[in-house]
Formats: sequence, structure tokens, C-alpha cells
Amino acid sequence: MAIGFVAFEFDADKRDVTRIPPEHGVRSGALVQGRRHGAGAAGLSQRHRRLFHVLDPRQFDRALLDDLCALSTRLRRHARSRLGARSLQTLLPHKRAMLYFTQPSTRTFLSFDNACHLLGVRTSEIRDPAISSEVKGETFEDSIRTFSSYVDVIIMRTHEAGMAAQSAALMDRIKRPVPIINAGSGRDQHPTQALLDIHTLERSFGRRGGIDGKTIGLMGDLRRGRTARSLAYLMKNYRDVRLVFIAPDDFGMGSDIKVHLREHGLPFHETRELGSVIGDLDAIYVTRLQTEHDVGDESKGYEHARYRIGPEQLPALRSDAVIMHPLPRGPEIDPAIDADPRAMYWRQERNGMWMRVALLVKIFEVEDELPP
Ligand code: ASP
Repeated sequence: MAIGFVAFEFDADKRDVTRIPPEHGVRSGALVQGRRHGAGAAGLSQRHRRLFHVLDPRQFDRALLDDLCALSTRLRRHARSRLGARSLQTLLPHKRAMLYFTQPSTRTFLSFDNACHLLGVRTSEIRDPAISSEVKGETFEDSIRTFSSYVDVIIMRTHEAGMAAQSAALMDRIKRPVPIINAGSGRDQHPTQALLDIHTLERSFGRRGGIDGKTIGLMGDLRRGRTARSLAYLMKNYRDVRLVFIAPDDFGMGSDIKVHLREHGLPFHETRELGSVIGDLDAIYVTRLQTEHDVGDESKGYEHARYRIGPEQLPALRSDAVIMHPLPRGPEIDPAIDADPRAMYWRQERNGMWMRVALLVKIFEVEDELPP
């Protein structure tokens, strides 16, 4: 069945990644900088400027995404040999990272931690604010400023949206700023997950011309799932992509994202019925119900059985389709399909580590020191 897309004209000029609306608390100069901090960089997409803070998927343009994907693949290859792995460890032994994760995390934490270690970066961590001086009444900003005194990058995950942006704004006011990486900001955004999702899609569609021209379904709790929100933002960088949002009415994609897609001429279609679109999808990105964001019993009526992929759904999926999930999974992905060649979520995890290695290499500008 053909999907009825809301059609928009593709207009490359409208795909301006240099400005992020002020409501996101992101100052344009803060994201990509000249070699010296605050060197007046306004453009986020200029290739010779330094990638500094990583706060929001909208700061990434196609050139940077392509660079990061290629770099990630290159780094992964280097690490296969003992010599290559050792040479990676000599890239950043003089750097230290702070992993400040006050919201639960398995994959993002471990992949950043291991990404740091692959590059020789030493890490320290706080995963529980109850053991930091925040319990003595220290403000969030003073805590961040303190971390920045000891390390060269702060990677942070918080329950609330906007904290990474607030930290970046603080860094931009002080003498020794360090990059802030948003590793998940409440219900809002998860930019590094979106980067690894792009990397996984590009790798999976390697023989089919990459992401351009593909129809990508996003299914589940799209309203509160930050990974789907971030991935939708990045899609404006690809040509002729169509998005299909599959969710119950109360869990549909947020209007802020839909406005953005309209502004950038990216067609999307919304449906409650997976069965009506499944055969048209090149990829299906499944997400879980985000019950931790419930304020009442809003998750109660969610019909898991309608928004899941199991052996019964597989015959309707294209034979070359890709099934993704940011994990952790709930009932929406039946483990019985794990061995299906279309299931990419375990590879997605591993791609995440290499994408984060690539990100650190870019931020610290050591790409040129890599052996060819
Ligand atoms: N691990 C992802 C996140 O941190 C997905 C999820 O938790 O559903 O957002």
C-alpha cells in the first residue's frame, strides 16, 4: 500500500544548520569554534572550524555527518591490529574526561567510557548526584565549573532537558572552557545516539546508495523518546528521505519536530497502524514506552501488541529492510527475531562506541595524527 506523504518541496537552501532557535539555549558560537575559544565562529557547518560542544543534532550538517561516519569506520579498522590499537591510544593520553551521568545509562555510559580508553583518555565519573557536593547545596553550575577545572571534556546525561546547553553557555563565559557533550537530555534530545543511528543506517544501506532516497519508519513512544526526536532532526541532511511515524495518538511525534521537518521540506506520514505501512519501509526504528516520564497513568492504555516487531511481522518487511532499536528493549522487539539478518540493534550498539571515538577525535582535532 502506498503511503500518503505530506509532500514538501526539497529546497537545499532551506537546510540551514547554522542556526538553532534560541529557545534551545544554544548560542551559535558555542558549537563549532575557531582554534581559539570564542573566535567569533557563527557558522556550524564550516568544515575548518572546530567541533566543540555537542548539544543538539541540528548543529550537524551533511559534510560533518559523512566525515564522522568515514572516520568511525577508519578508526575501527585501525583498532583491529595491535599496532593500530596502540597508535590510537597515543592520540589523547594527555586528556581527561568527566562522565557525569545522573540518569541511568548502560550503553551510552559504557560506549563513551570505552571510546575514551581506546584513545588513551583517562576518565572519572559521577553517576549519583547524592555523592557529589550538590547534596551540600552546591549549584549545578558550580558543580560543572568544578568538573571543568580537572578535565578536558564533560560528557553528561541528565533527567532534565537543557542542562547540557546551560553548561555549554557557562563554559562560554569562563576562561578555561571545556567541550560539553550531551549524552541524553531528559525527554528532549540524544544527539550522539542519533549520530550512531545515522552511522548504522549508512552502513546498512552501504550497497543501496546510503540513506538518501529511503523510507524510514519510527515507531513507539515518539512523543517522549528522545532518540527518535534526535534522529528525525538529522534526517533533513539526506535527500529524498521520507519518514513514517507509527504511534498511538497520544504518543505521536512532537509538533516541534514536525514543524522543523516542514520547514526543511522533509515529507512525513503519521499512522497508528504498522500493518498499513510496514511493506514500504527501508528501515524501522522501534522505540520503547518511556514510562519513566509518566506523571500520571498515561502509559496505562498503551497497546504494546500493536507497536512491536516479532516473527509475525517479519514476512511483511522488505527482505533488505533494517530493524533498529536504541535499547534497552521492552516487549516491542521479540528476542526471537534477534538472529534475523535484518536485526541491527546489536551492531548499532557497537557502532555507537566507534562513532563516539570519532567524535572525540574530531573535538580534540587529532585526525591528522592518525596513520593513513
Ligand atoms: N537508551 C536510549 C536513551 O537513553 C533509549 C531509551 O532509553 O529508550 O534515550
